[in-house]
Amino acid sequence: MIVGGGAVGATLALSLSRLDFRVALVELRAPVFASSSPERVIALNYGSRVHLERLGLWSQMADTGAGVIRHIVVGEPDGDGRVDMDAAEAPPCPSGRPPEALGYVLEMGPMLEPVYRQLEASPVELCMPASVRSLRIGEDAVEVDIHGRDAARTLRAPLLVGADGTHSQIRRMAGITTRGWDYNRFGIVASVRCERPHADTAFECFRKDGPLAFLPLADGRYSIVWAVPPSTAHQLLSIDDASFVRALARAAGPELLRRLGGIVETSGRTAFPLELTIASRFAAGRVALVGNAAHTVHPVAGQGMNLGLRDVEVLVGELSGELGRRDPGQSIVMQAYAERRRVDTLAVAAFTESMLHVFGSPLPGMKWLRARGLDTMERWAGLKDLLLTHAAGMSQMPAGEEGA
Ligand SMILES: Cc1cc2nc3c(=O)[nH]c(=O)nc-3n(C[C@H](O)[C@H](O)[C@H](O)COP(=O)(O)OP(=O)(O)OC[C@H]3O[C@@H](n4cnc5c(N)ncnc54)[C@H](O)[C@@H]3O)c2cc1C
Repeated sequence: MIVGGGAVGATLALSLSRLDFRVALVELRAPVFASSSPERVIALNYGSRVHLERLGLWSQMADTGAGVIRHIVVGEPDGDGRVDMDAAEAPPCPSGRPPEALGYVLEMGPMLEPVYRQLEASPVELCMPASVRSLRIGEDAVEVDIHGRDAARTLRAPLLVGADGTHSQIRRMAGITTRGWDYNRFGIVASVRCERPHADTAFECFRKDGPLAFLPLADGRYSIVWAVPPSTAHQLLSIDDASFVRALARAAGPELLRRLGGIVETSGRTAFPLELTIASRFAAGRVALVGNAAHTVHPVAGQGMNLGLRDVEVLVGELSGELGRRDPGQSIVMQAYAERRRVDTLAVAAFTESMLHVFGSPLPGMKWLRARGLDTMERWAGLKDLLLTHAAGMSQMPAGEEGA
């Protein structure tokens, strides 16, 4: 039984049904596939593409209009110190081929549609819209009382997976605590058109207040995520488009603006609160957590969904073994899943935190150190290879697992 049918929960449901598990997927709201304005996008790395390719989902997702990231430029607003990453320089994938791209930019709503089309044609029982009323974890099974559009019922399964996002009800009901903090920042999201073609380039500009990312969209525009304090977020959501474009240009700084060629147009804006929330356990009793229910990280490195898809891959791997097939919720299977996911999650969270601290530090001398650090990364092939491997999500790809 899976509660939460976002991209992570829905992909898990589909993967498990392909392995002949009986699956019920409970989701609070009927999914919305329409494009939103501003576009709510996700940057998926090459490793996630390979995973989705193996599930037969990638080509339909890419057909909904995926921006391609072949280059990533990381720097500061004044252009002091910079790293340029290019897919062509990336170390080869486990199969020996170089990755076609470092990542892809997909829209959340349209990206979900192919997953749900396949779910509708599968034996997965879709319980939506439905809410969870209560939960009982027993020795052999978990029972969940749900309330649908017009009826209440009880579902019973040997394993319950909480895929219900950052403020997971399942996590809370299973008594799993969290660690983390509120960044006191909002991520302003908008889509903007610039004068120069983006040439499949993503820019990450580290500002004192928080990072500003430009992600290339399929239609030539960029989707931006701009981390700002709450008072600035309030102001940026209230001003008119022309004032927002001017504020964004100031934040990007002269060097990035030169590469963008000026910002000429913006969509409307929306804002997301940014927080770090990591579950103290990824499994307890017969309950496992995946996706944002297990870990919500800062979007600076664009890793949240990539991490969630890796949870799916690992959980499916554990459940498809002999022990998992015999009893998917048994303690040894749950603990094996939790242990394998903890290391990857903590590594991503630590990397993200270190970037935020190094670039956010006002200490004298830090600016000089940052610039030298970026220059060193740019020149030292071994370090850059490592960065490229992580950016493309290839370090977590098992050998020989690359898609077509
Ligand atoms: C501004 C911003 C930019 C980001 N950019 C990137 C990026 O570029 N790359 C990347 O990899 N990640 C990015 N992320 C992170 C990414 O969006 C999340 O990691 C990802 O969406 C998590 O997916 P999920 O399915 O786990 O959770 P969600 O997408 O939150 O889905 C949870 C689902 O559970 C349902 N639900 C909730 N409660 C219940 C309940 N009680 N019962 C039943 N159903 C319930 C919800 O309706 C929802 O459908 C970004 C995040 C933010 C905020």
